[in-house]
Amino acid sequence: MAERSNLYFYYKKDDELEKKLQPLFELARENGFDIVDHADKANIIISVGGDGMFLQAVRKTGFRQDCLYTGITRAEGEAGLYCDFNLERFDEMVHSMMHEELEVRRFPVIETNVNNNTSFYCLNEVSIRSSLIKTITMDVYIDDLHFETFQGDGLIVSTPTGSTAYNKSINGAVVDPKLPCFQVSELASLNNNRYRTLGSSFILGAERTLALQITQDGNDHPIIGLDNEALPIRNVHDVTVKLSDKLIKTIKLKNNSYWERVKRTFL
Ligand code: NAP
Ligand code: MN
Repeated sequence: MAERSNLYFYYKKDDELEKKLQPLFELARENGFDIVDHADKANIIISVGGDGMFLQAVRKTGFRQDCLYTGITRAEGEAGLYCDFNLERFDEMVHSMMHEELEVRRFPVIETNVNNNTSFYCLNEVSIRSSLIKTITMDVYIDDLHFETFQGDGLIVSTPTGSTAYNKSINGAVVDPKLPCFQVSELASLNNNRYRTLGSSFILGAERTLALQITQDGNDHPIIGLDNEALPIRNVHDVTVKLSDKLIKTIKLKNNSYWERVKRTFL
């Protein structure tokens, strides 16, 4: 990994963590890596924290395509779907980076457009939820097909790696990130003689576009979540979601496949 030697660490600054990181910085420098003070100068961006911190690291650095991301969890035994390394055993990380015991994996990203305006990227999911006690109503289109009219709490559209997060809590399937696709799951849909939804999650292929038209009935200020960040847009009428051309490249330890991580986290 000789040409990839600028490391940027993304974490919430606190004295204790700062102290814990010093030996890691030292060791990295001794082994020919530079620690840079801005993400723009890095070719490897390392989050320190949990999966939530990894999501922030990717978002705040703009879903960079020209660098690798990886995550370090803080406490021994703390697992993470996005984090291959552990702070207690950081020497392992430096060692494997030196000896190229790493592979690169690529995670699909979804692209969300709100009100035919700006696009946003998500590594976990975009969530559209009623912000009121009342249900939200939206027409759901798959490409040009009017598929269903949803009335309920909201919809979660997740990437494969996001499938173990919010999506899993609402009984969505866990999806292999080797599949370029995205999944739509319901939050408490009403099902009666007026409103009928599929009722199960569905998975759309890479060529599909999901379009949501939110009924302008007063409950048209849903909370839109992009991974762990809320989108500050008030009135929402149109949301489209598709698979992005972007991929997040992460460094992965050998023998630490997606399904090993799923097993380690949940079983
Ligand atoms: P949080 O409320 O602390 O996250 C909830 C948990 O989800 C944390 O334990 C987090 O792990 C974990 N997580 C995040 N991404 C994951 C993934 N891809 N697979 C498995 N677990 C994952 O908030 P956060 O840490 O900022 O994470 C944001 C995510 O929380 C959102 O993207 C959404 O998926 C999820 N969320 C879930 C629910 C729910 O299940 N009811 C509701 C809202 C949001 P760490 O502790 O390692 O950070
Ligand atoms: Mn968290």
